[in-house]
Amino acid sequence: MNVAIARHAAALTVLLLLLAPAAWAAEVPADTALVVPEFPEHMRLVADHLWTFTHVEENNKSVVAEFGSFLAVIESPGDEGTARAMLNDLAKAFPDKSVRFLLHTHHHGHSLAAIDPWLARDVTLVTSPANIERVQKRSANPERFEKAVLRATEGLTIGDGLNTMVVHVIDKEDYPVPTDEYTVIEFPAQGMLVSGCLYTKPLTYHGVVNDRKKSLHGFISDHLPGVRSLLNTSSCLARGNEDVSSLATLDATLEKGLKPEVIADRLAAMSLDEIEAALPELTAELTTRTERPYDLMICANYLRKKREDLPRAEKLARLCRDAFPDVPRPAYYLGIIRLEMGDDAAAEEIWADALALAEDKSAREDLEKTMERTRKRVAKSREEKAAGE
Ligand SMILES: [Zn+2]
Repeated sequence: MNVAIARHAAALTVLLLLLAPAAWAAEVPADTALVVPEFPEHMRLVADHLWTFTHVEENNKSVVAEFGSFLAVIESPGDEGTARAMLNDLAKAFPDKSVRFLLHTHHHGHSLAAIDPWLARDVTLVTSPANIERVQKRSANPERFEKAVLRATEGLTIGDGLNTMVVHVIDKEDYPVPTDEYTVIEFPAQGMLVSGCLYTKPLTYHGVVNDRKKSLHGFISDHLPGVRSLLNTSSCLARGNEDVSSLATLDATLEKGLKPEVIADRLAAMSLDEIEAALPELTAELTTRTERPYDLMICANYLRKKREDLPRAEKLARLCRDAFPDVPRPAYYLGIIRLEMGDDAAAEEIWADALALAEDKSAREDLEKTMERTRKRVAKSREEKAAGE
């Protein structure tokens, strides 16, 4: 039953009771008090029996699926408070159904973080075998975790007369994705696929054509002919992203988005001095095609890793840092390249800038740890190189 109809039906019943003669109302047994479902504003119906649920703090989403006698939730980001707040909201929205399954697309924190509030309510955690080791550390109760976990392999189907979902496991070897096993969850009747962080579509532009978008597109083309739209969970409307994207939009992104190899080819055809002189025009052009430093860092990273062209990667990373001077990540990334180029002083200088931009003490500490790991990695590779010569 569509929830809109359910809500109207409840409201109508309340109205009938109010209009009924007192004698009739008195016949209604006292213990059948009506519970009117309360849907929070951050819960949005996107298809039959499917809602997106945006978490206020994280700007991330979960997906709520309604079945005949229970609910399933896909993705649980944030801390225990976030999970409990969601459980409370769902109890009000679905007074007669409880959550039976928690699924997640991968092991990043924006997909699955705190799990004990769910396990405490006897929810079954559906996860792929490759994720178990990482995920079980997030529970303080190993025995309960072991009892609650359901190992999902390709094609696992959960459904009843009202709704059905199918878990698909994307193998990193076949389709490059950010974690070893990545599960996407298909709702065949609605033609929808929960695609986690594989595709985020900003409202006003396409962004970068990275590997994960190409992999998602390839996997759908090869295996999921019924999918017509995508539920992206690491993004939200409040941050300027689409809540639900059509498959046609993903097609358009692959065609019109920023292609790292095209940018690399353009820069490869220019001398470093020519690039330097062209930086203002390049900045103007690239920042009309994206508003996210991430997209430009992916392009710089392509030059760095695939083309092993550190000097050009440095130019693009510097462009990115100058275009987004208020966020720490581009400055940190520029420092990595400078360190790899052997310019330690310039790396440390830009890293000091990155640390000054960190949002708070804990962000600064995280960044410091990441920098220390990078220093060690680069020092090790220098030693190996020296030993090999
Ligand atoms: Zn992710």
